[in-house]
Amino acid sequence: MSEELLFANALKSSKAFNLIKNDFSLGLGNAYLIISQDDEAVQSFFRLIGCAVFCEQHHSACLECDTCLQVLHYNHPDIKFFNVEKTAIKADNMRAYLDESRKKSFSGNLLIFIERLDLTSERVMNFLLKSLEEPPKGVSFFIGTANENGVLETIKSRCRKVYLDIFPDDVILEELKALNVPDETAEIAVACADGQLGKARRIALSEDYAKSYNLVVELLTKMKKSADIVFMSNIFDRNDKKNESNVEVLNIMSILLRDVMVYKNNPSELRDGPIKEDIKKIAESFSASAAEHCILAVNEAKRKLYSPACNPQAIADSLLFSILEAKHTWR
Ligand SMILES: [Zn+2]
Repeated sequence: MSEELLFANALKSSKAFNLIKNDFSLGLGNAYLIISQDDEAVQSFFRLIGCAVFCEQHHSACLECDTCLQVLHYNHPDIKFFNVEKTAIKADNMRAYLDESRKKSFSGNLLIFIERLDLTSERVMNFLLKSLEEPPKGVSFFIGTANENGVLETIKSRCRKVYLDIFPDDVILEELKALNVPDETAEIAVACADGQLGKARRIALSEDYAKSYNLVVELLTKMKKSADIVFMSNIFDRNDKKNESNVEVLNIMSILLRDVMVYKNNPSELRDGPIKEDIKKIAESFSASAAEHCILAVNEAKRKLYSPACNPQAIADSLLFSILEAKHTWR
């Protein structure tokens, strides 16, 4: 396994990689649009493609030969990685990228990787469109976007669309184990990652995430009557001005409630392990309909958290009341 490339095994065996694979020997297209919300995985995926195109071992992306290492160290002369900061690209920067794309390559192939184009204004995207309309010879653009609608229709129509996989739990678990993430942390991360490698890694590396997770499990398991609300409504951090960790708490709640619904309908759909045990405990006091109505209440709380004059404590109280009410109504 390569220590140089995150998620190497998962990405190499991904459907997305296999879709592009044939083109490495048959000839690359002018433009690809890689669609995924997982920025970290896309960044690794781009480097993997660079390795595969130039690898000394017949496009195998061995990640070990001198050329692969050159790519992994961002030193390959015929590969440009742009917008690795993942921000809105400014007009001057886009012009500079396009100037680079018109330079002569050493190998006959020039790969231009641009991350998160969806953050960029339409005006600046239009500069890129011109290059895609009359692509310089031997140049292939790989454009990353978190969502399809964030990219101009005219750009999309000139790209081959590739959706980066939603990865299965066991694949993500393997990658986290390879990163030496402890078992229990890895299980929580997999359960909450929505099939995204980067998100799973972020969760696994976050000190507070497991704490929030345990807090939510305890709340959903133990809160039985309105008198309990007083002791449990400290779910939000009042100092969390940007609401990041508060929204995270609500996301965890949604994920657990969704799993309760899955478990109620078909217990074998959840993977055996510590998370399933937590879900089993929570499911003792929730019907599938109650869980569904609670998810709606959580979404409502999330919406309120984003409003400028929000009062986190009042939102927490009202959410917990709604949960109790749903549990009671949909027994
Ligand atoms: Zn190689």
